[in-house]
Amino acid sequence: MKSQLACVLVLAAAVRSGAQEAQPLPLADARYKADILLVVAHPDDEGAATAYLARAIDEGKHVAVVYGTRGSSGGNEVGAEQASALGAIREIEARRALGTLGITNVWFLGGKDTASQDVLQSLANWEYGAALEQLVRLVRLTRPDVMLTFLPGTFIGEDHGDHQASGVLATEAFDLAGDPTVFPSQVAAPLRRLEPYLEGLRPWQPKKIYYFPDAERDDIFHGKGPEYSVKEISKSSKKAYWRASLDSFRLHETQAKSFVDQLNKMDDAAIEKMMAADGWTDVQRFVLGKSLVGGSATGPVFENISGDAIPFRRGAFLAAPAGTELSVELAGPWNFYAEFRRAHGLEHLPHPEPPEIALQAGGSLVIPLWVRNPTSANRTVTLSTELPDRWVVSSGAGKVTVAAKQTAAARIEINLPALADTAKNKEDAREITVRAESDGGVVGVVKLRVELRKRALPE
Ligand SMILES: [Zn+2]
Repeated sequence: MKSQLACVLVLAAAVRSGAQEAQPLPLADARYKADILLVVAHPDDEGAATAYLARAIDEGKHVAVVYGTRGSSGGNEVGAEQASALGAIREIEARRALGTLGITNVWFLGGKDTASQDVLQSLANWEYGAALEQLVRLVRLTRPDVMLTFLPGTFIGEDHGDHQASGVLATEAFDLAGDPTVFPSQVAAPLRRLEPYLEGLRPWQPKKIYYFPDAERDDIFHGKGPEYSVKEISKSSKKAYWRASLDSFRLHETQAKSFVDQLNKMDDAAIEKMMAADGWTDVQRFVLGKSLVGGSATGPVFENISGDAIPFRRGAFLAAPAGTELSVELAGPWNFYAEFRRAHGLEHLPHPEPPEIALQAGGSLVIPLWVRNPTSANRTVTLSTELPDRWVVSSGAGKVTVAAKQTAAARIEINLPALADTAKNKEDAREITVRAESDGGVVGVVKLRVELRKRALPE
């Protein structure tokens, strides 16, 4: 008996070692593979793309969604819950809204709502590094062919810094997720069973990234990407794609209960009339960020895309040419975006010239400036402004001294007047000019278009 048992044990060991040699490596979890990964900031932002997503799902595409925040700021139209409690509710509302389209793979980066137009403040408030690490992880998990997100840039429009932050992070994740040296513990395989730190993901290079703008500048976005009618009828839901988008949006009750109550009292024809007047039935328009598989800018989103993985492609970083003369330029988010477009091969991306912003009437405008002095002598620059009537400089004009080989940060602050016609919500944008002079010559001119509104997010 004893020898027989020993024999069985030896045999079992032999089977185990044989099985180990033949064991295939575990494959990625197919349930999380997406064709499209949508990256937005807040619950309800997905509405910017749901009409298109409903169409893509009809065509058999799988969609996953990432939100930057849970949307814990703002009012609550349903109950008393506020702040983090409201965020917990809005996470469920977002999941239910996407659930109406059949989308269930949904993640939140854990950022905090930031009421500002400055993307840099949003990135700071979202714990930028951790948010990027998590988004790169989710790209490697969902392996999307196409990423859709807000256009990273600053414009007259809602221009929410959080919307911009989602576009910045998505663009960076697009460029980084295929690089095996980026967040390498994500793509290292555990050596022992249940090894708790290494994640076993593989690098993944998405093929295309498209943007939708949070701006009112259709003139500069037209013809820069594909357009889709939202009036076509869905094969699966038998309703127009705009209506699928609206019926999904209705789940955001803490943000829109009064609107939903209004809809519930209307018939379909009245709803269509109201929503058409509000732009919901306009074409869905995207701007092509980049395609690594060719195709045309205005061609269909899935043009040239097959199911195969493509190799990682490292974008060329175009450094800004170093000047040799005294110069002045806009700093802050405007300077960031100029660098960002160069860093990510996005110099073709539409952006307004001159730069623009909408601000609340009666508030203030801060113009951040870099004064660069690459020469070998200390220099003095005089800053002056040309402003519309009733716009008043409160600080920052006058002389700025910049040491040799140094860059000085300067800022001009302007008090904005009240709206001339208080019955209106906004005025036409006005152009303002900052002129920089030194030794009797002009060394720089900075222009900015500024629209005054009854309400706007802080700068
Ligand atoms: Zn939003």
